[in-house]
Amino acid sequence: MAEETIFSKIVRREIPSDIVYQDDRVTAFRDINPRARVHILIIPNKLIPSVNEIQEEDEALIGHLFTVAAQVARQENIASDGYRLIFNCGRNGGQEVPHLHMHLLGGEPLKGFGFNC
Ligand code: 5GP
Repeated sequence: MAEETIFSKIVRREIPSDIVYQDDRVTAFRDINPRARVHILIIPNKLIPSVNEIQEEDEALIGHLFTVAAQVARQENIASDGYRLIFNCGRNGGQEVPHLHMHLLGGEPLKGFGFNC
C-alpha cells in the first residue's frame, strides 16, 4: 500500500488549499509555488503514486483529468490562448509528490519545453 501524501489531505480538505474544482473523482487546486501566472494541479482523489502505477481500470479516471483540465482552463480564461499539461514521473522526471498530478500551466507564454523554444 502506498503512503498517503499531503495531497490526500488537500482532497479531504483537512489542510487549507485553494481548490478551484472538485468532484467525487478529482480535485484541482492552485500550486503553492506557481511556475506560471496560472498553475493548477489536477489530481485523482484516490491515491495513485505516479504514472507507473496507473491500471487499466483507471483509464476513465485519467481521461476525466483531461476533461477537468479543459474545464478549469476555460474557468481561468486561459483556454483560447493555450496552456501546457505536464505529468512528472519519478526521480528523473522531477516528481516530488508521489500522488499522481497533472500540472496545468498558462496565462502567459511558456518557455523551457517544446520544440519551438
Ligand atoms: P512535482 O514536482 O511532484 O511534479 O510537483 C509537485 C507540485 O506540488 C510542486 O509544483 C509543488 O509546488 C506543489 N506542492 C507541494 N506541496 C504542496 C502543498 O502543500 N500545497 C499545494 N497547493 N501545492 C503543493
